[in-house]
Amino acid sequence: MKQIKAAVVNGVNEDYKIETVYLDEPRSNEVLVKMVASGICHSDEAFRLGDADYGLPAIFGHEGAGIVEQVGDAVKSVKVGDHVVLSYAFCGHCNSCLHGKPATCDEWAVLNVSGRRKNGDPIFYKEDKKTPISTLLGQSSFATHTVVDENNVIKIDKSVDLTIAGPLGCGFLTGSGTVFNGFKPKVNSTMTVFGTGTVGLAGIMAAKIAGCSTIISIDIHDHRLETAKKLGATHTINSKNVDALEEVRKITNGLGTNYVMDTTGISSVMKTAFDATAQGGVYAPVAVSSNELTFVPFGELVVSTKSIIGVLMGDAVPQVSIPQMIDFYKQGRFDFTSVIKKFDFEDINEAANASNSGEVIKPIIIIDKTYKPQ
Ligand SMILES: [Zn+2]
Ligand SMILES: [Zn+2]
Repeated sequence: MKQIKAAVVNGVNEDYKIETVYLDEPRSNEVLVKMVASGICHSDEAFRLGDADYGLPAIFGHEGAGIVEQVGDAVKSVKVGDHVVLSYAFCGHCNSCLHGKPATCDEWAVLNVSGRRKNGDPIFYKEDKKTPISTLLGQSSFATHTVVDENNVIKIDKSVDLTIAGPLGCGFLTGSGTVFNGFKPKVNSTMTVFGTGTVGLAGIMAAKIAGCSTIISIDIHDHRLETAKKLGATHTINSKNVDALEEVRKITNGLGTNYVMDTTGISSVMKTAFDATAQGGVYAPVAVSSNELTFVPFGELVVSTKSIIGVLMGDAVPQVSIPQMIDFYKQGRFDFTSVIKKFDFEDINEAANASNSGEVIKPIIIIDKTYKPQ
């Protein structure tokens, strides 16, 4: 076992604590990654704060980027020294995986949120080398090193700065994938996005790339709406000051938009989002929320021919979508770096608080300070 440092959550609502822990050796299908940086996602915080249950102690983090340090003998897609972004885990051989839908993998839950390998073995142990620590999304990127399945790693071009690339594995993947793979909008269609976090802004950039003619961004913070406008929103609405539904209808000649994405998960907002969906349109609530969708009279759904779709992780194949986002970024069409703020690994609690307060859209913790972008 390898001695490393990781930010451990030992109890619900406790701070991240940087501790010395032990990391198991990579097995034949696994890859040892030296982490350079990791984004903090709202799901990490939902588990830490107890909004959703998780087996503790745990090492969270699932927007990691780093350098391959060791590979198991069956690993084919990466070699030592490769630069990688980490995303979610999938089996690669069930029906869904073989149909290009790894986000609906039969083994998604056991591989991503059981906190252990598929056979139940832990990957991390506390300093006593006995007490297991849970992993998250098969990743646990809030650590100096991690061991992941080959399917978790996506090789990227070495010219891409690893201190910014991690969030491509979750937040930006979810937002852009909901548009590209969930909605698949026709050119000239219209879209509304509720919320301007990482997922919402990625959705706005993707809507622009996909050729949507009207892209409406709704939030309660003016400075965030300014960012949305820079990234592709054609209209912005501050729903603190005006009635959002009324404004959407004004912009769309009373019709609503063909596509609506809700990233807030707030019940009242989800109802407005459904009402803002045009006749025959598609509505995707993408926030991880325990609130129920109880607002739709069944008859109204039938008569309006609206669809409500569930989209997990943007229904994306990370190995395909992450290099594609990097291409869009290099072409100046996916400027995801404008929402990033970097923090030192030691300041992970400060970074998490800045995200929770809304002050920072996407905090990234820098784990390897010796890394220099090429
Ligand atoms: Zn996430
Ligand atoms: Zn599968």
